[in-house]
Amino acid sequence: MTTSKLKGWNHTPDVPLQVSPFFRWPLRPLEMLSWIWNSWFLISERLLIVGIALASYYWVQPPLEESRTFAIGWVAEMYIRNLILLSVVASVLHSYFYIWKKQDDVLKYDPRPLMLNGRQFTFSGQVRDNMFWSLASGVTIWTAYEALMFWALANGYAPMLTWAAHPVWFVAMFLLIPLWESFYFYWIHRLLHVPFFYKRFHALHHRNINVGPWSGMAMHPVEHLIYFGTVLIHFVVAAHPIHILYHLQYYALTAITTHTGFEGLVIKDKDRLKLGTFHHQMHHRYFECNYGSLEIPWDKLFGSFHDGTPEMNEVMKERKKRIMGS
Ligand SMILES: [Zn+2]
Ligand SMILES: [Zn+2]
Repeated sequence: MTTSKLKGWNHTPDVPLQVSPFFRWPLRPLEMLSWIWNSWFLISERLLIVGIALASYYWVQPPLEESRTFAIGWVAEMYIRNLILLSVVASVLHSYFYIWKKQDDVLKYDPRPLMLNGRQFTFSGQVRDNMFWSLASGVTIWTAYEALMFWALANGYAPMLTWAAHPVWFVAMFLLIPLWESFYFYWIHRLLHVPFFYKRFHALHHRNINVGPWSGMAMHPVEHLIYFGTVLIHFVVAAHPIHILYHLQYYALTAITTHTGFEGLVIKDKDRLKLGTFHHQMHHRYFECNYGSLEIPWDKLFGSFHDGTPEMNEVMKERKKRIMGS
C-alpha cells in the first residue's frame, strides 16, 4: 500500500480506491455488510431517490389509465416535474458549493474553480453550457422514456410488477437497479469512448475537465438517448411505475451528484452525504480510465482501473498513449 498522493488535486480520498467487497477474494462478510449499509442507509442518496420516486408517484404522477394513450397533458405534467426536480437538485448543490462556497475547499477534488468562460462551451461558459444541455436535451429525453414506459405499462406491453403479488421482488428491484446501472453504464461509456462516437457525441460531456453539479447531465442528445435507454430493460424485467420513476431518477440525479466535484456534504465536521466520486472525477481529467463505477469493478477486470495512486497514474498514462496511438 502506498501513502504518497497523486499530484494536482486539492483533496483525494484514501487510496488505493476500494471496489465493492463483493468482488474481492477472500470474502469479508463484515465489509460486505458495511458496504451495503453505507451505500443504502444513514443518509444515502439512494434512499433519498427512493423517497423522491415514492413522492413523485403518489403526488405528482398522472394516473396510469391516463397514460394509455399519448396526450400532451400528462406528458407535460411529467416533463415539468422532471424539469423542476433536476433544476432544484443541481441548483441547490451548485449554489451551496460554488456560489455560497459553504464548504470552501473541504473535500473538493480539483483545486481550480469552475470555468466561467471558455470558447469550447456552448454560449461560451461552462455553467450556461451545462444547464442548456441538461435541461433542453436531458430532461426531454428522460421524460420521453418515462412516458414511453408508462404508456407500455398501461397497455400491458411491458410486464407489471406489483407489491401485492411479489413483495420481495418489489423491494429487490430497488437494489438491483444500481447494480444494473454499473453494468450498463460501463459498457455504453466504453462504446462512447470509441473515437467515432467520442468525437461526435461524448466529447460534449468531456468539455468539462473540472466538473460541477450541472456537468453531470450535460451530454449530447445521442448520449442521452443511449444513457436513458437503460430503462428499456423493463420491457423484459417486470417493474412497477415506482421502479420506472426510480430507475430514471437514479440515472438523472446521480449524474448530478457524482459530478459535484466534492466528495461529500460536511455537516458538523463529518462527511454526511456522499456525493462526487474521485473515481469519475479522475475520468474527467485523465480520460482513458475509470469508465464505470465501484459497484461492479469492470474497470479492474479490463485493466482500466485508476485507483488514485501515483503508481497507477503511470500505468494509466501508458494505457492512454497506447489508445491514442502515439
Ligand atoms: Zn467519458
Ligand atoms: Zn462524467
